[in-house]
Amino acid sequence: MGTPSNVKLLDENGIRLDGRGPQELRPIRLRTDVLERADGSAMIEWGGNKIIVAVYGPREAYPKHTQDIEKAVIKARYNMAAFSVDERKRPGPDRRSVEISKVISEALTAAVMVELFPRTQIDVFIEVAQADAGTRIASLTAASVALANAGIPMRDFVVGCTVGKVEGKVVLDLSKEEDNFGQADLPVAVLAKTGEVVLIQMDGDLSKEEFNEGMSMIMTATARIHEIQRTALSEKYKEMDMGGAE
Ligand code: UDP
Repeated sequence: MGTPSNVKLLDENGIRLDGRGPQELRPIRLRTDVLERADGSAMIEWGGNKIIVAVYGPREAYPKHTQDIEKAVIKARYNMAAFSVDERKRPGPDRRSVEISKVISEALTAAVMVELFPRTQIDVFIEVAQADAGTRIASLTAASVALANAGIPMRDFVVGCTVGKVEGKVVLDLSKEEDNFGQADLPVAVLAKTGEVVLIQMDGDLSKEEFNEGMSMIMTATARIHEIQRTALSEKYKEMDMGGAE
């Protein structure tokens, strides 16, 4: 984070490098049933991000000491492919992926009716094939749909988006350049119906006013992104009606 003087992120009319206005999302495509062997799956394309999520379970938690006698344990594993970023990423977990897996597991636990499945685990495998900033919130948005696709009872959907600050302005859904060279990055995920915040992290600095402005942009955007989640799930049922894919 930090703006080198040669990278101009906003033009004189406040338009961003990729042509978006401050409150505009990148294009989002989301679909379910992309994998045959998972209990539920989803793929999201969000800007240049391409992410596949596979859900398995609930099944008996193993090793046994990881069992919770009162509820299912959600084990999300976020993984970035070596070829997903400009500079080849060393395969395997690193501090960042362990942290993202943890915050995603916690956010999903708030949405799933975990109390219905004591002693079990629900695995959520997240594979980032191409990364373009905002992968944690795109992963969560898709994971929530993959869980619903697996038929796992949920009280609500998790839906995420980021805001950030570039050249002193609060903007929605940071691009890779804005994430790299902007002044702040605030990924947030909420429960769609209640608006309860289930993930919030911040890199950089925002004033209280900028934070409030950003949160209000997030709430408007997540309502729209939730519509995309609902459409992705209903498309599946449309296909079934027509005798198409199961
Ligand atoms: N990134 C990268 N190499 C890495 C980690 C991240 O190039 O080892 C890029 C990737 O495009 C990612 C972006 O930096 O989407 C922002 O990463 P951040 O840690 O802020 O998480 P994200 O915004 O993806 O949730």
